[in-house]
Amino acid sequence: MIIYRNAKVPVALLPESFSGACNREAFLLDPAVLCDIEVSGDRISEVALPGVLEGQGVDLDGQLVFPGFVDSHTHLDKAYTWNRSPNSNCDFDEAGQRFEKDKVFWSEEDIYSRASFSIKCAWAHGTVALRTHLDASSQVSDIVFPVYNRLKAEWAGRITLQAVALTRTEFYTESEGRRRAEQLVEMGSDCLGTMPTMNPDLDRQLDTLMSLAKDLGVGLDLHVDENNDPSTECLRRTAKAVLRNEFPHPVTCGHCSSLSLQEPERQRETLALVKAAGIKIISLPMCNLFLQDRKTGGNGVTGPTTFTPLWRGITLFHELMDSGISLACASDNVRDAFFAYGDYDMFEVYVQSIRIGQLESRLANTPSLVTQIPASIMNLRDCGTVESRKRADLIVFSARSFNELLSRPYAPRRLISGEDFRRAELPDFSELD
Ligand SMILES: [Zn+2]
Repeated sequence: MIIYRNAKVPVALLPESFSGACNREAFLLDPAVLCDIEVSGDRISEVALPGVLEGQGVDLDGQLVFPGFVDSHTHLDKAYTWNRSPNSNCDFDEAGQRFEKDKVFWSEEDIYSRASFSIKCAWAHGTVALRTHLDASSQVSDIVFPVYNRLKAEWAGRITLQAVALTRTEFYTESEGRRRAEQLVEMGSDCLGTMPTMNPDLDRQLDTLMSLAKDLGVGLDLHVDENNDPSTECLRRTAKAVLRNEFPHPVTCGHCSSLSLQEPERQRETLALVKAAGIKIISLPMCNLFLQDRKTGGNGVTGPTTFTPLWRGITLFHELMDSGISLACASDNVRDAFFAYGDYDMFEVYVQSIRIGQLESRLANTPSLVTQIPASIMNLRDCGTVESRKRADLIVFSARSFNELLSRPYAPRRLISGEDFRRAELPDFSELD
């Protein structure tokens, strides 16, 4: 047993009883509370205000401490393909086309090497759980899922992995759809996923998908409305389908970018439907900022943007939070045709989310975006907060306040794993050669 003393923990991630320990001014500017965290083995056994717990301790000197990050939306099978399949226009349409061509390189060895590197990065940055969408097209699913299952076993006890089968919507609605969906769940998919698009058959497609998922006892995790066309309303249609079908399992919608360009009244109606349907939202701000508002082509112009982007591409951060709808932020793609950069660093996602979404007015809610809420989306009960019985995987930042934390995001951080600090070397880029 050991006590980590003088840990400054975001108040939102502590037990309810700590909320009174933060006055109003502190709550707005530096919403965190000094406390002592007692750890026995790999679990937190108690959290208390300083001076209450007795026993051997390590003084953290008031540095900010977060629980391990939870990355609820990634693509391990696509990562690190940028060098061989770059997106010359850096736009959404070309990204999809690039991937179809890149699949000629996909072998078990190739996917394992890239996915393994991804998880090493995530672990070194302090992530303890990660959900990945996996290409479930019949062309590659037979090699993608076995690699995923191998990695899931290798990392068990360190990073909890979950998978979402990602494939075109028609895949589920064709005559073979039921058998395919069963196979994907048998292969290790925790939810069914797809990227619904506006079309005359959309409602029937969503009904079929929900009927399959209901029978299989799994939830849905969808890529929704990742574009700048306000008439794209798959989120709204998904919410209506959940209510119409009384779909009983969790539904998560990622992106929801076009929502932020709709008329305010339409937005309010959609948010009310999403809330009533219990849908949780995942924003992927770094990918949105990269892909959205690209203006390419025309006048013979090809290649990357030569116009200044004016739209940030994100969904309605503030309005979702005000509506009481669960919102998480996650990595999405890393160094592939959908996003050229990234390192599976959820702290980068956290800092970028605050800056892109201008979340200063609700700083106290922000740590939950990358910890507690994604843990609830993944239905994980052992991580996401700093409370007794949770995993004692903690991140100690070289900062004593939120302002210091957000001002020096590259500062080193230390990782606690149970009763000790753990080393966490980032893998060398040459491992990908
Ligand atoms: Zn995605």
